[in-house]
Amino acid sequence: MTDKTKKYGPNTTIVHAGSDPQNQRGAVNPPVYHVSTVAHPSMDAMREARLGSDRNFVYGRHGTPTSMAFEEAAAAIEGGERAKAVSSGLQAVVAATLAFVERGDHILMLDSAYAPSRRMTEGILAKMGVETTFYDPLIGAGIAELMRPNTKVVFTESPASHTFEVQDIPAIVDAAHKGGALVIIDNTWSAGHYFKPLAHGADVSVQAATKYWVGHSDAMLGCIITSEEHFPKIRASVAALGCSAAPDDCYLGLRGIRTLSVRLERHEQNGLKLAEWFAGQPSVDRVLHPAFDTCPGHEFWKRDFTGASGLFSVVLNPVGQKAVDAMVDGLELYSLGGSWGGYESLVLPSSLEGSRTATEWDFSKPCVRFHAGLEDIDDLIEDARAGLNRLNAAA
Ligand SMILES: *Cc1c(COP(=O)(O)O)cnc(C)c1O
Repeated sequence: MTDKTKKYGPNTTIVHAGSDPQNQRGAVNPPVYHVSTVAHPSMDAMREARLGSDRNFVYGRHGTPTSMAFEEAAAAIEGGERAKAVSSGLQAVVAATLAFVERGDHILMLDSAYAPSRRMTEGILAKMGVETTFYDPLIGAGIAELMRPNTKVVFTESPASHTFEVQDIPAIVDAAHKGGALVIIDNTWSAGHYFKPLAHGADVSVQAATKYWVGHSDAMLGCIITSEEHFPKIRASVAALGCSAAPDDCYLGLRGIRTLSVRLERHEQNGLKLAEWFAGQPSVDRVLHPAFDTCPGHEFWKRDFTGASGLFSVVLNPVGQKAVDAMVDGLELYSLGGSWGGYESLVLPSSLEGSRTATEWDFSKPCVRFHAGLEDIDDLIEDARAGLNRLNAAA
């Protein structure tokens, strides 16, 4: 067992955090505890367990030894003190936000947010009487001008879904804290490995663990990572919603985490090479990859991140839908679908219409999102080349 008080490097943390074989008969991975009832040996023992119930095993919905092992690893990876596993990434977004707002409050949401996060503000939050202002993801310190006395949360996501604007998190944190609001970040793109938002002042980090942590396109899982200070509200929100994560999925999340750093290295290399290849093609307008200077906010990626994952977008020169369809439909190695972060490559034309109210977007140029998987890069490039040839032939 590793010394929990010692700070290890990020790769060591990924391998060892939350591991406790001697407490489970030497099994290296934690058993999957399928539990609803937890039987207590006495009234006194039950009272004691309930008193410390944020760490104890008291009822299946509040966590199991399997979910707790996953949460311990999650907190360590993100550089937080506590974490709560929930049933999906979207559940993590919603439970984290609801922890800090009530009727009459106001939140700020980036204009290029993951679409269901945006819908949360227009749906649940609006019904609750919480008002939302959408802001330009590149606003930086300018967010101070949008702060109101009742602004409780500034929601960030960096880089943003589909359009990859990288946000100036320290500047946003500074303005939010001065105005008395907390900052929540959706940190899924970096997988918590290439960006440590809590070290940059963010209060709560949210992971769609479904993506890189699970890593094999087969389980839905979310996680909320924060400090001891904010944890009681997160815990209460998750308890009130009853949205605990299933033990098998926590097991898969923890198992996926153990190989996260090596998988990400290949996703990063393949993503960089593929994006570079796309950037040189005449039918391509530009690539939206945080490591490229054509990506808005690239300077913040360079300043704050230690690497890039495998997800980026390609903005094509204006071309009809039929040509885009011809490119996508014949691809052999890229599956057409969402939920990136698995081992395989993906493609997904973005449908951004109607998703922006605070910023402009040029809809005449199709934006296609790619996830670079773990395949051989030459094969990925050849398949993409054939795709662009089909696009050009159908244009
Ligand atoms: C996929 C995703 C989510 C939601 O995760 P699910 O597990 O699918 O609910 C949230 N944020 C981002 C950025 C995502 O890509």
